[in-house]
Amino acid sequence: MALLIQKFGGTSVGSLDRIQVVADVIEKTARAGHQLVVVLSAMSGETDRLCQMAQRVSQNPNERELDMLLSSGERVTIALMTMTLQERGIRARSFTGRQVGIVTNSSHTKARITRVTADRVKGTLADGVIPIVAGFQGINESSDVTTLGRGGSDLTAVALASALKADRCVIYTDVEGVYTADPRIVPHARRLEKLSYEEMLELASMGAKVLQARSVEFAAKYGVPLEVKSSFTEGEGSLVTHEDAEMERVSVSGVTGDRNQAKITVVGVPDSPGIAAKLFGAVADAAIIVDMIIQNVSQDSLTDISFTVPKGDLPQALSLVRDIAKEIGARSVEVKDDIAKVSLVGVGMRSHSGVASRMFQALSREGINIMMISTSEIKISCVIEEKFFELALRSLHDEFQLEHIPKTEK
Ligand code: ADP
Ligand code: ASP
Ligand code: MG
Repeated sequence: MALLIQKFGGTSVGSLDRIQVVADVIEKTARAGHQLVVVLSAMSGETDRLCQMAQRVSQNPNERELDMLLSSGERVTIALMTMTLQERGIRARSFTGRQVGIVTNSSHTKARITRVTADRVKGTLADGVIPIVAGFQGINESSDVTTLGRGGSDLTAVALASALKADRCVIYTDVEGVYTADPRIVPHARRLEKLSYEEMLELASMGAKVLQARSVEFAAKYGVPLEVKSSFTEGEGSLVTHEDAEMERVSVSGVTGDRNQAKITVVGVPDSPGIAAKLFGAVADAAIIVDMIIQNVSQDSLTDISFTVPKGDLPQALSLVRDIAKEIGARSVEVKDDIAKVSLVGVGMRSHSGVASRMFQALSREGINIMMISTSEIKISCVIEEKFFELALRSLHDEFQLEHIPKTEK
């Protein structure tokens, strides 16, 4: 008998019919004699719909209230799923994030988990009842509802898996695993049987939304074995686990991208110590994640600093940056939001050379201009015009022959 966490995403529970299908999966696991905890997302589109409603009543909705609103989507699915299971004679009980003791900091809409008590889940399991837990939500130390960032139900599942020392955390979604590229954009993308936490973290951080980046970070930190599978078809899925020698054989494991970035350029910044610290300190204090940063060579003691932020954070970032630009005497602040970032990821990059130049050549063959470049040990990213996004992903996928199962690369 194993203890499993099974998480089902929005499309998987997107209708009452889909809830019946997921109930089949849960029933089968329970009847096979396993203990399980189920984590559910809101029905697909529901969190977006709630966000849009909030935008209609307020241009800048209060984040505490936003969390109160957004957390309601998951309550609907856990109650409906529990009723569905009970109809089948299966003992199940639904729980909110607060009831299972997911405690977070107060960073509303992107709260970080500080501890998980999970006492009620343990008690429920001990009684032979299946806990059906609302993903994406927690409470802060003052008992206010918080949410864990978009895609945050993955994090709920991983955090519970870690707290309960589960044997496995299975993320059921609408594709058959983690692919070499988003299969909706690159149709001949290939499912990866196995990839390392580090690769998955880079893929997720660079835009592959199949897993929330923070859930991967958490899984890596606590060594939670993570499996990604389809709730629509039966099959193997992908395993996210510790790196092994096999994974290093190929230079590139996957390509991904993000069209949700915007570029801010502060023009004519005095080139003196402390300026960058001031600028990025203010942005970081607002919990805005800055990805790429480029500072030009200075001329006449003035320089330009460009960086990217998530589009959703652009209004807030801009107002902070404009204030600081004024304070430090910068000439102007420019914005470009029709950009996209494409990235290549692979632990094999550590031992294979020439990956970057092949990437740049493939993009240049398509006439795609590169605006910014950044690299890490296992990733190369380029910022390009948004209109070339899909073309770039397909060309890079072809260039590195990712549709083929690697055999002889050394
Ligand atoms: P869920 O609602 O189950 O949480 P998501 O929509 O968050 O599902 O994530 C699944 C989606 O991630 C897929 O439908 C797919 O389009 C997208 N995706 C992006 N990159 C990848 C990738 N490399 N492998 C698999 N899916 C990917
Ligand atoms: N419902 C939330 C979202 O759409 C959380 C999740 O689905 O993981 O982001
Ligand atoms: Mg998701």
